[in-house]
Amino acid sequence: MTTALVVCPDCAAKNRVPTEKEHLQAKCGRCGASLQGAARTGVVIGLNDANFGGIVEQSPLPVMVDFYSPTCGPCKMVAPLVENIAASFAGRAVVCKLDTSTHQTLASRFQIRGVPTMLFFKDGQLVDQVVGAAGQPELERRLEQLL
Ligand SMILES: [Zn+2]
Repeated sequence: MTTALVVCPDCAAKNRVPTEKEHLQAKCGRCGASLQGAARTGVVIGLNDANFGGIVEQSPLPVMVDFYSPTCGPCKMVAPLVENIAASFAGRAVVCKLDTSTHQTLASRFQIRGVPTMLFFKDGQLVDQVVGAAGQPELERRLEQLL
């Protein structure tokens, strides 16, 4: 069973939430606050126009977003690395992916010219980026700097 680590927005407690039960209204085990809308960590979150603002721009944790395209070879090579990074930064950073072929408004807003492009956000601000396929240690180093 896959579980995501959700950091409570009220008390910062870390809650394990099975991804199979994401449709349920999870509550914080410590303070009882709703975890609805809180960013999950430990897994890669698929972004869209509706959840981008809440997850990326209001995250209390640093965020890495993989801008990819499903038809791009290098993107497919990077995808498992992004999953590894999500797992190893569980509870410390939020890791997301955004399909640029179906979300062109967000891609053009961030002036994505090629995929994969990794954008790094801290306190809702774009602070770093890596264009092209980078190795896992390089991406982890960039994220580490934002913790
Ligand atoms: Zn809480």
